[in-house]
Amino acid sequence: MSTAICLAKEMGKKLGRSKILQRALPTKQERIMKTAILWFRNDLRMHDNEALTQACAEGWKILPVYILPERELQAGPWGFSKMGIRRLRFVLESVKELSLNLEKMGLPLQFRIGDPANELAQMANEIGARHIFLHAEAATEEAEDERRLEEKGFSLKRFYGQSLIHPEDVVPGISQLPRHFTPFRQKMEAHWKVRDLQATPVYSGPAWEISPSPIPKAEELLPDQKEMGHNSFYTGGEQVALQRLAYYFEESGRVSNYKETRNGLLGSDYSSRFSAWLAVGALSPRLIYHRLKAYEAQNGANESTYWLVFELLWRDFFRFSAIKAGKAFFRMQRNEPAAPPNPFWTWTEGNTAHPFANACMKELTHTGYLSNRGRQNAASYLIHDLSVAWTYGAAFFEHHLIDYDVYSNYGNWMYLAGVGADPRKDRRFNL
Ligand code: FAD
Repeated sequence: MSTAICLAKEMGKKLGRSKILQRALPTKQERIMKTAILWFRNDLRMHDNEALTQACAEGWKILPVYILPERELQAGPWGFSKMGIRRLRFVLESVKELSLNLEKMGLPLQFRIGDPANELAQMANEIGARHIFLHAEAATEEAEDERRLEEKGFSLKRFYGQSLIHPEDVVPGISQLPRHFTPFRQKMEAHWKVRDLQATPVYSGPAWEISPSPIPKAEELLPDQKEMGHNSFYTGGEQVALQRLAYYFEESGRVSNYKETRNGLLGSDYSSRFSAWLAVGALSPRLIYHRLKAYEAQNGANESTYWLVFELLWRDFFRFSAIKAGKAFFRMQRNEPAAPPNPFWTWTEGNTAHPFANACMKELTHTGYLSNRGRQNAASYLIHDLSVAWTYGAAFFEHHLIDYDVYSNYGNWMYLAGVGADPRKDRRFNL
């Protein structure tokens, strides 16, 4: 076991394992009322959070919980963890802000590191909860966590707030989702429906006699990982997300030029930069949409404002493809047994024969972000010029991207490799 994981486990213990909960054992009266766990994953926000709003509205005594999966911090077969230190910092900042906001409502967020299903089951048993409110996920490991909790006898109340279109509103249904994006988009545009935002949650259940868990720092959990550069643009949490939304729409009006600038490579304003907050759920895609409609009413709609929604539909498409395919969506990617070939490592170091590919990879490893065009070119170069299996590249992006989203990352890599949702099979970029 690596030093980092030992430390993480130790932190997990320090962060108040059962002792905290022992003080929270329910009284006899509380035992007969409804107690539920509210499990946060990629929905780290107070606004437009259906699981939170619904649990409050139904009058449950709610214990909010965030489990950092230990598997994300472990070094994989090629020497790097799934989650790199930058994304970890962004996630922890988001969790911390969420915890402060929940505390104001009287809800003490419990933070753990470990196996999500086991940690949750243990906590739920200690407080006598049989119900878990959550936003459902379709990726293999996350779906498996859910399945194991059901196997342990818990009732999962699933919500779907991470996409712009609600999965139930997909026409003619997720099971018949087209293989390619364009027919999906056309169908959705013909039956357009974006649901309203959720009401602000109001908690009126009994108070807990426990404190929120302290949230560790990323350096404490991944002490062996050194960052190659500093990126001050990204701070986790919904406050900064909402500031970015206001900036990109009303304050700067940049969204009105989005279509012309979105393929830019450097700078912070050629595209929205919403992705990192979307990935952890600190920003709701529906909020973006409704704010965009308000912006259009004031400033006029144009191709650029349309195009932002078009891109959010791409994001939905990859998520829905994963829901439809289940495990098959990821069947080709995990844990390639063989060690990556040398050209892969030169690519990761930005040391190939091509300066543009090198620049992209250096930007990625030094900042945790890369423009869409940069990602497409760097990925295409690895797959089509260096002839390296795309799965290695996808894993490397997973480690480095602050905005890593399992569906968008693997969906885009498969698309570029010609094994995914691309009707053209050889999408090679001319660097
Ligand atoms: P904008 O251009 O402002 O777009 C607005 C939003 O639309 C984005 O925030 C994002 O949520 C969505 N979006 C835009 N382009 C895409 C796309 N091609 N696919 C899916 N959604 C899109 N995006 C991620 O969020 N996480 C990833 O892990 C990720 N990995 C990628 C890997 C590769 C190889 C490629 C080619 C693309 C990947 N993308 C990923 C998609 C895209 O590059 C980023 O979403 C985008 O660059 C983020 O910057 P932005 O928020 O300014 O995007």
